[in-house]
Amino acid sequence: MKDTFKHKGMRNQLAQIVADKGITDEKVLNGIRNIPRHLFMDSSFEAHAYQDKAFPIGADQTISQPYTVAFQTQLLEVTPGAKILEIGTGSGYQTAMLLELGAKVYSIERQKELFKKTSLFLPKLGYRAKKLIFGDGYKGLPTEAPFDGIVVTAGAPYVPKALLAQLKVGGKLVIPVGRKEQIMTLFVRTSEKEFSKQEFGEFRFVPMLENKN
Ligand code: SAH
Repeated sequence: MKDTFKHKGMRNQLAQIVADKGITDEKVLNGIRNIPRHLFMDSSFEAHAYQDKAFPIGADQTISQPYTVAFQTQLLEVTPGAKILEIGTGSGYQTAMLLELGAKVYSIERQKELFKKTSLFLPKLGYRAKKLIFGDGYKGLPTEAPFDGIVVTAGAPYVPKALLAQLKVGGKLVIPVGRKEQIMTLFVRTSEKEFSKQEFGEFRFVPMLENKN
C-alpha cells in the first residue's frame, strides 16, 4: 500500500480534469487530491486509477467515475458533522470522500465479499465510518434515521420510499433513477410532507438490486 509523490501529482491532475468538467466545490476537489484512489483498485490496474473513468472492482461491481462521485457529493452539500447515509459502499471511495468532508458516514453494501473487503480496507487508510452495514439499501437505515443526506451510488429503478422517509426536514437525497441509464435526481425534504425534486442529466451506474441477499 504505497502512496507516492507521483500518485499525488496524478491526483492533482485528476482534480483539474474534474474541475474543468464543472465541479466547483473546492472541498470536493480537495477530496480528490487527498484520496489515494489507486489503493481502492487492484494493484494491476494502478495505471488507470487517475483517469476519470469507472473501473471494475470485482464481484461485477465498479468504482464510480471520479467526476460522478464529485457531482453527487457536490449536490449533497455536506457540512462537517452532517449525518450521511450511503447506499452501495462498493470500493469505499465515495465513503472516503464523505469522510474527507467531515461527515458522519453510514454506508450499506449488499454484496458480502465487497462488504468484508472494504470494511477491512477503509480503516487501514484511516477512514472511519460510523457504521458499515451488510444489508439491503432499499430499506435505508431506520435505526439511525433521520439523515442530513442520503446518496445512492447504484442505479435505482425507482425511488425507494424508505429513503425519502429517512431524511430530516431540509435533508437531501441524491439518487440516479432509471433502468438502463439513470437521471441524477436531487430530492430535498422541504417540510414533513413535502419534497422538491430537481434533475441533473444522464449517468450510468450498476443496478441497485432488490431482494437478492
Ligand atoms: N460507492 C461505490 C460505488 C460502487 S458501485 C464506490 O465509490 O466504489 C454500486 C454498489 O452498490 C455495488 O457495490 C453494489 O453491490 C451495491 N448495491 C447494489 N444494490 C444494492 C442494494 N440494494 N443495497 C446496498 N448496496 C447495493
